[in-house]
Amino acid sequence: MGKVATRDGESLVGFTTESSCAILTYDDGPDHNETTRILSALSEKGAKATFFVLVRDLTCSISLLREILDEGNEIGLHGDTHRRLPSVTARELEHEIRDSRHLLEDVLGESVRWFRPPYGSQNIRTWRSVCDAGMFPVLWEIECRDWEDRPFSEYLQPIRDHRENGAIIALHDGFAGDPRKRPKILNRRRLTEEIIGLLQDKGMDTLAIGAADILPDCSRRTRIWLDRVDSPDEVS
Ligand SMILES: [Zn+2]
Repeated sequence: MGKVATRDGESLVGFTTESSCAILTYDDGPDHNETTRILSALSEKGAKATFFVLVRDLTCSISLLREILDEGNEIGLHGDTHRRLPSVTARELEHEIRDSRHLLEDVLGESVRWFRPPYGSQNIRTWRSVCDAGMFPVLWEIECRDWEDRPFSEYLQPIRDHRENGAIIALHDGFAGDPRKRPKILNRRRLTEEIIGLLQDKGMDTLAIGAADILPDCSRRTRIWLDRVDSPDEVS
């Protein structure tokens, strides 16, 4: 049994540590093209990450999930339908969180400890549901806005600007938004390579959440994160 969130809305956003590290996370996959490319970039750079997966189409993705784990990465849950959880019924919430966790754990054969709410959108009801299902809500401190087409250097600016150890960085290996808005020119493999390169220039290793959580000098950095107001385009 891991540590549980105790204050209403308490969510993990990073780690306080003397170790030079950052935490990479990917949402909305697995995706047969993008996830494979990102896994190969991570492997070449000696980096690890946590992948928050959607359980829709899970039976088509079992080999990909196995590949994520076999490379030393970690899998968390991002739900099923990628709807904003505060807007769903009690029964739908049960499906997005508890049923989806059981399904994912059955496929993986191991426990799933982390949950990232779609769009970073949660209220006290959905937060409690995640905690009651035995998972810890995970949000982030850095996002690169990789759900939209922008000049490449703009994706990297939040990484360049950041100095503090232990930040959780939110990225995507899939796209769960309106297909017409899917980024057309973004090379996600290159983005991963450049982010890891910038972090390495700062002397930072890249870790999955579970690996940071067991570092001896590391404590969880949490924030009360409730009722986030998003722009309609956001796809986290
Ligand atoms: Zn998402």
